[in-house]
Amino acid sequence: MTAPAKSRRKPIRHGTTGGYRAHFRHGEPMCEPCRAADRTRKGYLGPQPVASCGTVGGYRRHLRHGEDACPPCLTANAAWGRIYKRRASDRAKAGAR
Ligand SMILES: [Zn+2]
Ligand SMILES: [Zn+2]
Repeated sequence: MTAPAKSRRKPIRHGTTGGYRAHFRHGEPMCEPCRAADRTRKGYLGPQPVASCGTVGGYRRHLRHGEDACPPCLTANAAWGRIYKRRASDRAKAGAR
């Protein structure tokens, strides 16, 4: 990437709090990535997306709500458990000393 030599303005790094401040300094409207970076800095993550069914997140959501997990969520959780266990046993094999 070659910036024009005349431009002394540093390129804005969007999606960072520095970018957020740069927009502010230049009196520009914030772009969404910069806005998000500022929210993250403040610890505000916005409305949390609801975990969809068929994911481990969905499975956990059912548990949190005291529900029985639906089949797609059970499958997702079982698949995740298999991966996890395989990793654990790989680690056990690798680190058997
Ligand atoms: Zn920006
Ligand atoms: Zn579900």
